[in-house]
Amino acid sequence: MTQLQAGAATDVGRVRQINEDRYLADEQLFAVADGVGGHQAGEVASQTSVETLLRTFNDGDHTTEGLVVAVEAANQAVWQLAQGSREKRGMGTTLTALALVQENGEEQLALINVGDSRAYLLQQGELIQLTEDHSLVEELVRDGKLTPAEAQVHPQRSIITRALGMEPVIQVDSWEITPYTGDRILLCSDGLTNELSDDRIASTLRQLADPQEAAHDLVRQARAAGGSDNITVVVVDVVDDDDRSKQASAALAGSSEPTRASAAPTVAGAAPDLEHTGTRVAAPPAPAPPAPRPTLAAPAPQPAPKRMTWRVVIFLFAVLAVLGAAVWAVAWYARGAYYVGIDNEQVAIFRGRPGGLLWFDPTLVERKQEPAGVDLLPAQRVQLEAGHEVSSKAAADRYVNNLRQEVEARRAPATTPLPPAGAIPASSSTTSTSRP
Ligand code: MG
Repeated sequence: MTQLQAGAATDVGRVRQINEDRYLADEQLFAVADGVGGHQAGEVASQTSVETLLRTFNDGDHTTEGLVVAVEAANQAVWQLAQGSREKRGMGTTLTALALVQENGEEQLALINVGDSRAYLLQQGELIQLTEDHSLVEELVRDGKLTPAEAQVHPQRSIITRALGMEPVIQVDSWEITPYTGDRILLCSDGLTNELSDDRIASTLRQLADPQEAAHDLVRQARAAGGSDNITVVVVDVVDDDDRSKQASAALAGSSEPTRASAAPTVAGAAPDLEHTGTRVAAPPAPAPPAPRPTLAAPAPQPAPKRMTWRVVIFLFAVLAVLGAAVWAVAWYARGAYYVGIDNEQVAIFRGRPGGLLWFDPTLVERKQEPAGVDLLPAQRVQLEAGHEVSSKAAADRYVNNLRQEVEARRAPATTPLPPAGAIPASSSTTSTSRP
């Protein structure tokens, strides 16, 4: 029978007040959960997820499908809790879990992932990342729009696209790994991977043979490197593979390549009894290992950007859409009219509102040769200096045309011969004008 040996450690880090990470290190079930949500809801989500995962897995089939079912139950538990309280609404958690299962009579390691906690396999000294992050930047990397180096420092690297508790139904990634003696699986929250490079993680896992020692040392290094988030590590070693390696070697000698780590679809299988001789759910988190005191004043670590879920992203987009619509409405109102005014002592047509509106200034459309500003009546001039609003350019043209005709009509008596004596002068054409 395959034998596993595990070590685990967690730490609040050097910036956060609360540890919202949880881990599970059972005989054959291991998990890391990284909670999301304010008012301590994140730790409720991560705690609920690992407790439900353990209970449901123990009660169900010890198969890859059984593990997926347990994750779905954990999702339901967090979702129900989130719906029951205003403070907890929107809480969620990542979950990466590993279990020893039976598939078609063979022992396998079933691995599941939701969110951006990770699983790695150290095999023959080489570190391979097994899980794919459900995060915005990792999706951009997969689409070739960001390089891994850019993703590592991207300001939106904490936006996760999948988490337990966000929806009543969850999509779970699952893999099956054939266990061989010497294989080492690392489960960790992003508090580790955001602080330490894969090379440094690999080097530590290669150097420290004891899984508990390796887990503690990784947490210690991540803390020393900044500790901007909660850090959680579970290291699982395959210490006995029930002669699987020897059989694989024999098969290899017969020119058959053994399959080491292989992704496989989730298959429901038989449910043999497995022994569970001790269960440990990490709550409260284990005390932090003492962090080395820096000998020089180190720059204060910056908190990692708070994790955001798609709900928050959608809300932000909705706010932006409303603001965009408001700006568009103001622009439409500010630029949607014309007015007749005076520019350089000439009657002119402007687009916009007199005096402008917010940051939308009126623009000069056309300066008219006739009538000149000096030809206007005082009342007309006052009106135009304030701006006479009209609904369209054509209406503005008509208004200016009327003004011009009026001015011409007032000029008429001075340019036409005097009427014969006794004739009645037209009242409008004899009105005296006082020019400003
Ligand atoms: Mg985290």
